[in-house]
Amino acid sequence: MYDELGISREVLEFATSVERELAGRWQAIDAVAEYNQLKVLRAMHNARLADTDFDVSTGYGYNDMGRGKLESIYARVFDTEAALVRPNLISGTHALCVALFSLLRPGDELLSPVGAPYDTLEEVIGIRPAEGSLREYGITYRQAELGPDGHFDYDAIRAAVNARTKVVTIQRSKGYSTRKSFTVAEIGELIAFLKSIKPDLIFMVDNCYGEFVEKTEPTAVGADLVVGSLIKNPGGGLAPIGGYIAGREDLVDGAAKRLSAPGLGREVGASLGIAKTMMQGLFLAPTVVASALKTAIFAARLYERLGYTVVPSADAPRADIIQSIVLGSEKKLLDFCAGIQKAAPVDSFVTPVGGAMPGYDSDVVMAAGTFIQGASIELSADGPIRPPYAVYFQGGLTWPHGKYGILSSLEQVGLSGADNE
Ligand SMILES: *Cc1c(COP(=O)(O)O)cnc(C)c1O
Repeated sequence: MYDELGISREVLEFATSVERELAGRWQAIDAVAEYNQLKVLRAMHNARLADTDFDVSTGYGYNDMGRGKLESIYARVFDTEAALVRPNLISGTHALCVALFSLLRPGDELLSPVGAPYDTLEEVIGIRPAEGSLREYGITYRQAELGPDGHFDYDAIRAAVNARTKVVTIQRSKGYSTRKSFTVAEIGELIAFLKSIKPDLIFMVDNCYGEFVEKTEPTAVGADLVVGSLIKNPGGGLAPIGGYIAGREDLVDGAAKRLSAPGLGREVGASLGIAKTMMQGLFLAPTVVASALKTAIFAARLYERLGYTVVPSADAPRADIIQSIVLGSEKKLLDFCAGIQKAAPVDSFVTPVGGAMPGYDSDVVMAAGTFIQGASIELSADGPIRPPYAVYFQGGLTWPHGKYGILSSLEQVGLSGADNE
């Protein structure tokens, strides 16, 4: 089959030798998936999820049973008082935007203690001038850079907190940067430190790509809100759209009022019959995330062996499903993405090229032959076309597909190694 699907004997033999070394890692990943599967199942039992909850609601969506159960299941899984899980949170950026606008008022300051946020948030915050940004509403922003070791710079963080600092945003995953992603335990240390300086701070974690990678979520270590996208980890590849905001009840209510309208809040919003698919996706998410993690570690080890810098390294503990590989040239970046695209179940016959994307300030190349448009829990690769030409890839609904995708990337990039242009 590999031969028929374009994988050469050299690539397959190299990959097989690497796969053998990784059996121990697979066991640990499967154990986390097992735990998280039971956690999701327990939440569904607790909510008494029933066949009748899958009825289609329309219009205002009063008494939408599916929506209510979905939100109580999310709250239980994330161990929070409440959750807002909606198809009209149209993406991760939108969910984060709704959460930030609901938490902050004119005169308040937002702090990122982990350096720059994800590219698309720059315009939400107003780091890059944008119409309708927090900045336009008189909400200021400060960030503390990470230290040279990639860890929190506690002195810089202490210096950045002031009387107006109200909300702290912590991005769990590295996004499009080469910093490391943070584990739940590290996020807990950071929150404890900031609480010791200013106890009434509100902590929001951008949880994108982190869900189900560990046995606990940031809400277990002091996060007041966690926010993410359903076309990433928690949608399990099935959710066709959506975002979630889970946490303290008063804060989730505030976000709901920002999403709908003051006075309406969580009580309205028909789920149009997709609550079932969202629940089924959540049910699959722990094992889908395990497949994505195996794919990431497999790729890290293969490319590391060829002399590329990979972040994180193959044996580092995982904090998210994103793997980056510093490919060093535009050609290799495009070749890698071409390999992932060729391996896709959808649009396998097209070749990705760079282009402008809304929310990003440099050209971006994206390989995504996905069933759900742009879903990055499906095997996908992207990268801004700028030095150091790092590719960021993630996903893999099944491990056999993830493995094949990485072999296909190697066919394009070649086995000759990092220094050979
Ligand atoms: C993907 C991502 C976002 C934005 O999510 P979209 O659904 O693409 O809008 C925000 N933060 C991080 C860390 C992400 O990975």
